[in-house]
Amino acid sequence: MKTPSHTVIIGAGHSGGTVAHQLRQLGYEGQITLIGDEGRSPYQRPPLSKAWLKGTVDAEDLALRPDTYYTENLISCLLDDSARQIDRARRVVILQSGRSLEYDHLVIATGAKARKLETEFANGIVYLRNMSDALSLKTLLAREKPRVAILGGGFIGLEVAATASHLGAEVTVIERESRILNRVASQAISDAITHAHQAAGVRILVEQNVERLEYRGQHIASVVLEDGTRVDCDLLLIGIGATPNDDIARDSGLACDQGIIVDLNAQTSDPAIFAIGDVTRTRLPDGQLLPRLESVGNALEQARKVAATLTEKPLPKDEAPWFWSDQYELKLQMVGLRPADSEVIVRKAHDGIGMSVFHVKDGKLKAAETINSTKDFLISKRAISTGQFVDKDALRNEQRPTAEAFNS
Ligand code: NAP
Repeated sequence: MKTPSHTVIIGAGHSGGTVAHQLRQLGYEGQITLIGDEGRSPYQRPPLSKAWLKGTVDAEDLALRPDTYYTENLISCLLDDSARQIDRARRVVILQSGRSLEYDHLVIATGAKARKLETEFANGIVYLRNMSDALSLKTLLAREKPRVAILGGGFIGLEVAATASHLGAEVTVIERESRILNRVASQAISDAITHAHQAAGVRILVEQNVERLEYRGQHIASVVLEDGTRVDCDLLLIGIGATPNDDIARDSGLACDQGIIVDLNAQTSDPAIFAIGDVTRTRLPDGQLLPRLESVGNALEQARKVAATLTEKPLPKDEAPWFWSDQYELKLQMVGLRPADSEVIVRKAHDGIGMSVFHVKDGKLKAAETINSTKDFLISKRAISTGQFVDKDALRNEQRPTAEAFNS
């Protein structure tokens, strides 16, 4: 009798959990083993800085699927272990526990970890990447009117700033670039988000570097900046970026370059191994290597492609990369990758808050960023995916609906 094939998934996060589910959805009859080291079944991370931190959803609401789903669908979960080594020649994964698992196909979904600030240990200094970090942050925020310093004006820093300020904290964001969201958003969007934070009483300090931290006993007391500014705090959240968990892939000889290199179908340099989610970088057919796309949308698309490949089903269509962030009453949605030399067209909503920023190059829309306009976001997503030409005059004319710019 033929032994059923075995797919081993390293990493039980959003992407790892999704590929296991998708495989069963598409009728995969082989064995599936999901390895995770957080002691819990796959859950959604985006609410950790927003609804969960605010207390409007609880931990059970974050689970991708109930625990019973995995047993009912014959998905073996090893949720207190992690992969130590991949022996590609023998197609074996060796776990920290000493156990080894033979695989026919391997999916690496190990994600990324928070970049650390070099500092001595102190109470009150937190990162935010997983549920355990989020629990520490929630406990510290529960104090009466805590003074919160946030290092890094990226998505993590700003989403926590919005939540903490909503919860009554006094918040200061410290960013080393000349504007928040410098890496991921245009100037117009940075300005709008800065304004929303300032209106909520959040202090935003840009072009600032940390000179030193000061402590009260074992606890963080202040952040002293290079220009001498002292930010006193009860809690310091560090959100200065993330680095990929690609060590075991690199050690096993898979092609990596600050992330595991995959093709458009999440295939690594080894035909038996796929990689998905935050740990990956996609190489396009023309050789271009994209930056890591740390977004749920990218993780889900790659998970669906791997499941389709392993079950020999039609592959889902390629999607333009998309991201979102909720801060206060603002819903920021972004799609596409902004070319450095694109023409920027901004349309402002009549409410004075919403806006859409379009990035056009060679007559086509390459990226769009919208605040409180899911309609413009969806129009843009479709236009980018289909490579539609843009009528720039129609797009500039705020009296005309956005859709008219994409009618040709
Ligand atoms: P991030 O988006 O890379 O932002 C970090 C910011 O901190 C950058 O502006 C960075 O500037 C700045 N920075 C770096 N070192 C600093 C320092 N020593 N002092 C002051 N500022 C410093 O990273 P993140 O906010 O930590 O988020 C981690 C990852 O999770 C990101 O990839 C993010 O996209 C993802 N995430 C996404 C969402 C979402 O999509 N809604 C939500 C949460 C997290 P430089 O550019 O100069 O390094």
